[in-house]
Amino acid sequence: MTYQYWDTHLETMSREDLTACQVALLRKTVSAALRTPFYRKPLAAAGIRGEESVTSLSDLKRLPFTTKHDLRSGFPYGFLSIPQERVVRLHASSGTTGTPTTIYFSKDDITRWTGFVARSIYGTGCTRFDVFQNMITYGLFTGGLGFHSGGEEVGMTVIPSGAGNTTRQFRLMQDFGTTVVHATPSFLLHLESKMREEGVDRSRLRLKRAFAGAEPYSEDTRARIEELLGIDVYNSYGLSEMNGPGVAFECQRKDGLHLWEDGFIPEIIHPDTLEPVPDGEIGELVLTCLCREATPILRYRTRDLTGFYAEPCGCGRTHRRIQRIKGRTDDMLIINGVNLFPSQIEEVIMSIKEVGNNYLIVVEKDGALDRLTVKTEVNQAIFRDDTRPLNALKERIRKTLQASITINPKVELHESGSLPVSEGKATRVLDSRAASRL
Ligand code: ADP
Ligand code: ZN
Repeated sequence: MTYQYWDTHLETMSREDLTACQVALLRKTVSAALRTPFYRKPLAAAGIRGEESVTSLSDLKRLPFTTKHDLRSGFPYGFLSIPQERVVRLHASSGTTGTPTTIYFSKDDITRWTGFVARSIYGTGCTRFDVFQNMITYGLFTGGLGFHSGGEEVGMTVIPSGAGNTTRQFRLMQDFGTTVVHATPSFLLHLESKMREEGVDRSRLRLKRAFAGAEPYSEDTRARIEELLGIDVYNSYGLSEMNGPGVAFECQRKDGLHLWEDGFIPEIIHPDTLEPVPDGEIGELVLTCLCREATPILRYRTRDLTGFYAEPCGCGRTHRRIQRIKGRTDDMLIINGVNLFPSQIEEVIMSIKEVGNNYLIVVEKDGALDRLTVKTEVNQAIFRDDTRPLNALKERIRKTLQASITINPKVELHESGSLPVSEGKATRVLDSRAASRL
């Protein structure tokens, strides 16, 4: 297979050149950081006075970590390093875990960001002959405009359809011959259910690919979307603190996400000791943004859990790959003392073919104990007078889950289309325990 590169030089440069490039960009980023109200003091305390204080990547360790809390405390201008008249745009995070944070861009920042998204899109095989329907929220959320500009840069015909409204999405796909879409994985699953419900003829669509990201999903979920829709699904990772999409993306080998190291310096650390973990082991991803002058961010603790691949990728790109995100450090549920990530449940249920396209995890107090209920959608056909097949399936799901997560859950089966669907990121967990403790 031949792989197409958007920028052969940047994507395949030697590791030494990549390191030299990172040092040069880190020096610029540090001097930008010194111009922000937030970083001035901690950098001075670390003995960093200007770009001359950074001469190699080992100097990274001298720089302070930045947390989401820091970004919030610096709201609104604590991290701004250029005069307001040079700021051309701002974006904010979705606020999944609290108050959103704001990121500012200069004109050059937008150009650089667009370049990383274009590189990512092109690397999946897309060209200007593609018609791209961007089925994600536009507005302050970075997924809309980020993918939009990247798609235009590649030269694709971009349809800014935004999220939601499946009927209108189908119409656009048919009218304009959409070949590639971008959405959350949960929306793609929902779209497929609706497609069957509304009797949309798949053979009349030209759909070939999807970019899916913004929320965690398992390899089985990817396989399911690919099979049901007959397309290739590429994992897209980004976060507003690092511009948005275009931080790490799968190439056509679909084996880990290339993290664009000429734009970001990745570290993977143990969240308690803050020491780097060995390649292959899971830890918290920490990112330094090298491609933005307006809002420099150093060693940002993403709270996203992943690991590096030790081996280079067969596609020829030299940028390191990270594993599919397992979840966030703060997603972890503790149920009767057992640690559990929602992604562990998803992995199990999405591998059971009778299970439908949507699910919900509910955690409640039951006296002194915690009770875990997993609600999944299943095909209508199973809801018949004879409840034996239904009960057998329920029992099979329960047993498979228990074997994998060591917690005995209650399983509820619901008709397809009956569990709530969100337009943005899916809400997979309802945990009422905190409220009941008050
Ligand atoms: P928020 O933190 O409010 O959700 P963002 O909109 O910036 O703000 O979302 C970024 C976060 O979304 C990431 O830190 C990560 O947790 C999640 N995310 C983004 N892409 C993926 C992906 N491909 N897989 C798993 N999680 C993802
Ligand atoms: Zn690759």
